[in-house]
Amino acid sequence: MFLTISTTGSPERPATDLGFLLHKHPAKVQAFSTSYGTAHVFYPEATAERCTAGLLLEVDPVALVRRGQGKGRGGTPDAALAQYVNDRPYAASSLLAVALGGVFRTALKGECATYPELPDRARPLRVEIPVLPARGGADLVRRLFGPLGWDTVDVTPVPLDETFPEWGDSRYVRLVLEGELRLADALRGLYVLLPVLDDAKHYWIASDEVDKLMRAGAGWLAEHPESELITSRYLARHKRLTQDALERLELVRLAEADGSEVEELDNAVDGTRDTEERPVPLAVRRREAILGALRAAGAARVLDLGCGQGQLVQALLKDPAYTEIVGVDVSVRALNLAAKRLRLERMGERQSSRVRLTQGSLAYTDKRLAGYDAAVLSEVIEHLDLERLPALEYAVFGAARPRTVLVTTPNVEYNVRWETLPAGHVRHGDHRFEWTREEFRAWAGRVAGRHGYEVAYVAVGDDDPEVGPPTQMAVFTQGTGTQGTGTRITDTTDTPKEGEAA
Ligand code: SAH
Repeated sequence: MFLTISTTGSPERPATDLGFLLHKHPAKVQAFSTSYGTAHVFYPEATAERCTAGLLLEVDPVALVRRGQGKGRGGTPDAALAQYVNDRPYAASSLLAVALGGVFRTALKGECATYPELPDRARPLRVEIPVLPARGGADLVRRLFGPLGWDTVDVTPVPLDETFPEWGDSRYVRLVLEGELRLADALRGLYVLLPVLDDAKHYWIASDEVDKLMRAGAGWLAEHPESELITSRYLARHKRLTQDALERLELVRLAEADGSEVEELDNAVDGTRDTEERPVPLAVRRREAILGALRAAGAARVLDLGCGQGQLVQALLKDPAYTEIVGVDVSVRALNLAAKRLRLERMGERQSSRVRLTQGSLAYTDKRLAGYDAAVLSEVIEHLDLERLPALEYAVFGAARPRTVLVTTPNVEYNVRWETLPAGHVRHGDHRFEWTREEFRAWAGRVAGRHGYEVAYVAVGDDDPEVGPPTQMAVFTQGTGTQGTGTRITDTTDTPKEGEAA
């Protein structure tokens, strides 16, 4: 089994950078032992202009049999023989993908210790796989690799026997991919698609296969037109795992529709990514600010109003300090996705007794919401028409009256700092309004005054000296005095004292 990866370069950007990217020195021939044999890495050419790395996997048929391959096919002498006489030595299959994942692990993650900026750059790449099993034919190979950003996907069927062309083609193809890509993206595509084309995964499908698929598929699989076929075949048509994976891809898609959450989910599915080097996504910082304020308030019974897909509910469940967590949303679709995210159906009794998801509109008073320690409205108010906002105010601050209320909303002043946001646009298509810091404080101050709360403000995300933070949060705490007393407005996080009058 063999594949080569080539790149071209110049004296300023030498092709031999490929060695740094792959973490394998171009001057060396290296061998790595894998569970199925030995993987060799070597460079047939390595100059500043052109550099090619080869990965050759020498399969050990005995190891393959020992690891349980061919189980269920046994019995007849033919089947036993097939374990030794097969295409494994030369056809690039799932075993090659396993070797790729092991030998080039750092490159797959898109990391490079020596030149950290290198993996982020696309460069001219050429990948050649001389013999690739193509279950589904040449056309499927094109459909699978086509959407991955390659300029050309060249698929040539390999004849069954060159001396007898009339015998027709074998089920193998020669594949050459050319284009300008980041190496990590190229490798991730191969890592997933080689086993898909092989369609006979040569290792045990464990539940962490879904995680592996999500990691390798981060950034492309959710949007791939063949994502279902890829997922099902990658997971060896295992029904439950495939369904799991498809649901997770659906979450990724939904998050992508809501720009603010994309990064967060990327990170969630791509656990191998180094979060230290990347800025912490805003959605994560928002959640941390909320969790900090809830902890400071000493809350145990919490409402997540407009819980969406349940990310906060999930985080709250991890902390036993929260004994009752209720997620409320008007959207049944969001609640269904939240239930899937939380694996509500498969949850043990103790966990499930702590959490409840319920449909409801915040524009109406709801008796079920009365008497909680805290309520969170994270990125919710801006989804209501301004005329509906007083109704929400009353339902939350007037009727439900939790001891603490946290409200977060975008700071519209910060929008000029988003590189991808065209001038004058709001961050999300469904935002009915976005407020300046002054507008938010005017609203929050009025609400607090009217309903007997005190309010403090917290900056979430980097607090820009000119335009302020990307997200603003108001922490409302029920005042000790009578309803309607003055509000106290501060600029720092205010820690509400435990046991403050409810
Ligand atoms: N709180 C989540 C989701 C924010 S998106 C987060 O921080 O990520 C806004 C959510 O508010 C959506 O899920 C939407 O369905 C919900 N929503 C909008 N109007 C609502 C209303 N009137 N009542 C309840 N939920 C509402």
